[in-house]
Amino acid sequence: MQEVKVLDGGFSTQLGTYVGDTIDGDPLWTARFLVTHPEAVVSTHLDFLKAGADIIVTNTYQVSIDGFSKYMNIPEEESLNLVCKAVDYAKKAVNLYKKCIENEENIVNANPLIAGSVGPYGACLHDGSEYSGKYCSTVTEEILVNWHRPRVQKLVDSGVHMLAMETIPCGKEAKALVKLLKEFPSSKAWISFSCCNDGKSIVDGSNFQDVAIQCYKEALPGQILAIGVNCIAPQNVTSLIKGINKNREQEQVPLVVYPNSGEKYTVERGWMKTEEGYSLHQFIPEWLNLGVRYIGGCCRTNSVDVKKIQEEVEKWKNA
Ligand SMILES: [Zn+2]
Repeated sequence: MQEVKVLDGGFSTQLGTYVGDTIDGDPLWTARFLVTHPEAVVSTHLDFLKAGADIIVTNTYQVSIDGFSKYMNIPEEESLNLVCKAVDYAKKAVNLYKKCIENEENIVNANPLIAGSVGPYGACLHDGSEYSGKYCSTVTEEILVNWHRPRVQKLVDSGVHMLAMETIPCGKEAKALVKLLKEFPSSKAWISFSCCNDGKSIVDGSNFQDVAIQCYKEALPGQILAIGVNCIAPQNVTSLIKGINKNREQEQVPLVVYPNSGEKYTVERGWMKTEEGYSLHQFIPEWLNLGVRYIGGCCRTNSVDVKKIQEEVEKWKNA
């Protein structure tokens, strides 16, 4: 099977070290900082690269034409240009990182890649519905395809190496994304779902493994780099992905996993610590053994976590 790639951590968490605790309540979330604090966006990417990320994800999760128009009065054309800018900031960070390598500081990875973040439709509703999928029964597949197209187009045109279709709360939206991806036959993506704590379902109640395998098969051959889960408590990951590659010796499906810290989020109260005290790092060898090939952190994980992930992956490779 292919080599393991280390992803970055929670963009908002690391960005918070530069801009303070002002991100989570914002309806545009980290996207606003593309306009207000571009240098902090670059520094955030650079922190993850220095920590050992092989792939950094652009700050476009919550970028939408409607969001920028509604909350910042930015016209459509300019909103889409912000997607290009987000990719440019990631490229800038990669160039700065390469300069560090020339000076032989912190050599972890000589050739980092950029993934364009494609957050779900629900992320732009600013009501936590990427964690409930409640819009999925009312929004049609066609609306979803059309809603996702302009950002995906811009990300592809801006030269991202792959797309990160992430925190997807329902099969319908994943299928819409697979359909859209076929319009860009030379592009590749991973699809990562927003899942329940029951160890088997996507948040809309459908079976994670069934939907994920279906998406993998429906896409053009080679277009889906991996399928998996993100922004879930680490202790709930294993049962979701376990067995997905059983009896698939011929065609192992690469998996992507980037959990959050295990803290709980509500729109009203923000992130709250829970008492369980699991750390994502303790599960890394287990996940790699199950076929995870893209591994990183989501909300409430920072560059220190990415460094630890990179070290765990290195240990696993050498074991
Ligand atoms: Zn997250």
